[in-house]
Amino acid sequence: METKRSVLMQKYELGRLLGQGTFAKVYYAKNIKSGQSVAIKIFDKEKVTKGRLSDQIKREVSTMRLVGHSNVVRLYEVMATKFKIYFVMEYAKGGELFNRVAKGKLKEKVARKYFQQLISAVDYCHSRGVYHRDLKPENLLLDDNGNLKISDFGLSALAETKHQDGLLHTACGTPAYVAPEVISKTGYDGVKSDIWSCGVILFVLLAGYFPFADSSLIEMYRNISNGKYKCPNWFPAEVCKLLLKILDPNPNTRISIAKIMENSWFKKGLNSSSKKCEVDIMDIVLLDVETAFRSDAKQEQESIKPSNFNAFDIISLSAGFDLSGLFVESDHKIEALFTSRHTASAIISKLEEVAKFVKLKINKEGGLLKLEGLKKGRKGLLSIEAEIFEVTPSFHLVEMKKSSGDTLEYQNTLKHHIRPALKDIVWTWQGDHQLQQPQEQQQQQQL
Ligand code: ATP
Ligand code: MG
Repeated sequence: METKRSVLMQKYELGRLLGQGTFAKVYYAKNIKSGQSVAIKIFDKEKVTKGRLSDQIKREVSTMRLVGHSNVVRLYEVMATKFKIYFVMEYAKGGELFNRVAKGKLKEKVARKYFQQLISAVDYCHSRGVYHRDLKPENLLLDDNGNLKISDFGLSALAETKHQDGLLHTACGTPAYVAPEVISKTGYDGVKSDIWSCGVILFVLLAGYFPFADSSLIEMYRNISNGKYKCPNWFPAEVCKLLLKILDPNPNTRISIAKIMENSWFKKGLNSSSKKCEVDIMDIVLLDVETAFRSDAKQEQESIKPSNFNAFDIISLSAGFDLSGLFVESDHKIEALFTSRHTASAIISKLEEVAKFVKLKINKEGGLLKLEGLKKGRKGLLSIEAEIFEVTPSFHLVEMKKSSGDTLEYQNTLKHHIRPALKDIVWTWQGDHQLQQPQEQQQQQQL
C-alpha cells in the first residue's frame, strides 16, 4: 500500500515508509535530479494547526534551516500543499539507535561516544536558541558511519502546540524521558528539560532499560518527580555521580551542559577538535537564496501557477497554517541588495556611520567596503562586504554579503542592526514585497 511510487513537487520520488510518529509519517525519498537520498516527514496540516504557532516555534524552525552540526539531522527544505506540510531532511541510513540498545546494553566506551555526540549537538542547538523538548530514542538516529544524528530538533515544538489542549498526553506513549517540570506543567526551560532527557538517555544506553520505569504510570510520575532511580551495579561510579547531577528534579540546581562537558568521565576519549562537528551550511542557504531571488513581485504575478510556487509562497498562501513568519525571505539570504537614490559618497559615509554604530570595523578594499567584527564569533570573525554599483550618478544598487563568519550572526546583525540603521538612504530592499493572493485561493480558504 505504502510502496506506491509518487513524485512530490516534481522533485522527490517518494519511497518506502520509514516510520510513523504521533503526528507525522516519514518516508524515504530521492531527489530526482541529484539522486540524493532524503527523508521526508509529512504532517497533516489539520493535525498540527489546532493552536497558533508561537513566534518562538517559528523562529526555531526557521533557525533549524541554518543549523549545521554533524550530529543533527539537517533540514533541507520545507514544502507545503493545501493539506500537508513536508519537511525534507537528511536521511539517516543507520536507523534508530535504540534498535541497537534493544539488543542489549552498550559498552561503556560506545555509550560514552553517543552521549558525547548527543551533548555536543544539544549544546550547539541551544546556543542557537533551539530546544528539542522531545529527546527520546525514536529521535536518535544513526548514519552509515554509526554516528548519532538527532532528528526533530525544533520540530517537536510543532507538535507541542498540542500540549495546550491536552492532546499530546493522550496521544503519546509513556513520558519516560520527560523532565519533572514538564510533567507538572509548571512551564519550563527548554535547556534544562533537554539536559534531563540526555540523562535518561545515558542511563538507558548503559543499562538497557529505563531509570524510572515502573508497573504503574502514577508510580513512574512519582519517581520522576522525586528523581528516584537506582544505578545498576555495573555503572562506573563516575557515571552515577554525573547522573545524580543531571537527573536532579529541580531544574534550577540541575547541572548545565558546560559543566557536563567539564566532567572527567565525559571527556575521556574526546578529541579536542570536536568543534569540527559544526558543518558549513552555505549550500542550504543558497538553495533558499535562489528561490528568494526568483520571487520578484512583478514576475510572480504574471506567472502565478501553483507548480511555480516555492515553499514559502505556498505556505504564506495557506491561511489555515500560518507559517509565514518562518520564512521571511530575508532571514535566509546570504546576500542582501538595496537600491538607493543617494550618491555613492553619501552611501559610503552612511555605511561608515552604521559600522561605527554596530561596532564593526570598516575598511575600503578595491571597490569594496568591508565591515568586520571586533571579536570572534562561533565561526570566526564576522565579515560583511558591501559593493556599490552605479546605475545613474544618483541611483545606486548596493550588494551586501557575508564573506566570513557565522551565517546566523550575520543575519541577525543585518536584520536587527544594519537594515534599520540604513533606512534613511535605502529606497528599496530586494525581496520586500507582499505576495498577492490569487482570488480563487482566497475563496477556498474561507470554506
Ligand atoms: P514523534 O512524532 O513524537 O516525533 P517519532 O520520533 O517516533 O515520534 P517521527 O519523528 O515522525 O516520529 O519519525 C518516525 C520514525 O521515522 C522514526 O522513529 C525513525 O525511525 C524514522 N525517521 C525519522 N526521521 C528519519 C530520518 N531523517 N532518516 C531516517 N529515518 C527517519
Ligand atoms: Mg521524531
